[in-house]
Amino acid sequence: MTSSFTISLDFELRWGIRDNPNEDAYADAILGGRRAIPQMLQAFEDHGVAATWATVGFLFAETREELLSQLPATRPDYANPHFSPYDDVLNRVGQGEADDPLHYGLSLIRQIEDTPGQEIGSHSFSHFYCLEEGATTEAFAADMAAAQSIAQSKGITTQSLVLPRNQQSEGHLIAARQAGITVFRGTPEVAFYQPRARADERRHWRALRLLDSAVPLTSTLATPAHDVTSDLVNTPASRFLRPLRSTSSLMAKAQRRRIKGEMTRAARQGKNYHLWWHPHNFGRATEANMENLRAILRHFVSLRDSHGMQAMTMLDLAQSVSTSKR
Ligand SMILES: [Zn+2]
Repeated sequence: MTSSFTISLDFELRWGIRDNPNEDAYADAILGGRRAIPQMLQAFEDHGVAATWATVGFLFAETREELLSQLPATRPDYANPHFSPYDDVLNRVGQGEADDPLHYGLSLIRQIEDTPGQEIGSHSFSHFYCLEEGATTEAFAADMAAAQSIAQSKGITTQSLVLPRNQQSEGHLIAARQAGITVFRGTPEVAFYQPRARADERRHWRALRLLDSAVPLTSTLATPAHDVTSDLVNTPASRFLRPLRSTSSLMAKAQRRRIKGEMTRAARQGKNYHLWWHPHNFGRATEANMENLRAILRHFVSLRDSHGMQAMTMLDLAQSVSTSKR
């Protein structure tokens, strides 16, 4: 079986970090992330790499009026009301991308669409948290219907899904399939990568994931990408590309070595290697993060030349799985 390399980006602007403590401190990273997106697109194009941009549905709106007209009637009733973005939708967002670049993103979606090989996927409509108390499957179904509706109004149908904070359950995946999704990004089969509600996410799980990005606590996370869960193709994440402050720190070097080694093993073993991050992770120290990315993309090109490794979006991967089953 041919090996493949997949990149997915959780494209969310402020909607993905709105409920973080000290979220105001992230505004510069979000704006820096907007500036980094064209640079990432250029790097993907230069290296012939296809990526899936899992986009929050709110970002498709051009104006506040349009955003308000697309809100679903059934919304999540989270036990912790801070998880709901709807107060901000009603009381905080500006008129459009020109005056409120933290909450709107249609011009960036268009740039992504215009770059060869890129796929626009979904990151739910409202940055929906499936495992938080109050997040019913009915509310998720309404959320996904709204996500498809606003994307389709811009001529885009999304088939790939990345769930916010990777929170998922079988019921939510069935609702996603009914909304037209065919493939989702699952989590590695390792205890400290399993999706959890925020309150159950202990500090030591996070510490283990950080350590594992540099030294091998887990064996390689590349997968055959054959899993089908709840009638969706599962393309599990292999690794989160952690943001760097400089390319020469020990942590940066260790992470790069680990990722390249895992990519090489995936290429030799005919597996898929799936890297993911958020555009705002490149919002600070953008040049160092771009340099790191370009080093990884060059490594992919060498594996394509030596082992025939293919660049695939999540949707490409799902289609190759369904073709091989016929
Ligand atoms: Zn997110």
